Amino acid sequence: MLLISCPNCGSRDETEFHYGGQAHVPYPENPNDMNDREWAEFLFYRDNTKGTFAERWLHSTGCRQWFNMLRDTVTYDIQAVYPMGTPRPDAAVRDAAAPATPDSGTASTAPDSTTTGSAAPSTSATSISPTSTASSTTQSGTTAPEGATK
Ligand code: ZN
Repeated sequence: MLLISCPNCGSRDETEFHYGGQAHVPYPENPNDMNDREWAEFLFYRDNTKGTFAERWLHSTGCRQWFNMLRDTVTYDIQAVYPMGTPRPDAAVRDAAAPATPDSGTASTAPDSTTTGSAAPSTSATSISPTSTASSTTQSGTTAPEGATK
């Protein structure tokens, strides 16, 4: 059973949602110019990705709104939830905790990583980012040199 995070309602059970197929399949600009094969491929042919796949979901028993989701078709790991009409987010972000935290995390940790670049490797910077609070990153930044001097 999946726990799906609706952008409007929060985390809800999988049974409240309906699968809507592959995302980012635009309607053809000139359908009358397409031959039968091209039209059939638009209607029926979809990617069968093994791994990260962008797909549409409908919160049918909740807010009744459509949204997009990045899901790993092997592990069922939900990597991102984002509104309809927005481009597919970077699939390299494997952190399934929250798609919004990397923006604030990288912005706040970027100055710290330059000052304490020798003390803190890049792996610790990625482990700090899920906390997503500016105060915790500054506190950890001040405590790291003290521990290094001791
Ligand atoms: Zn909803």
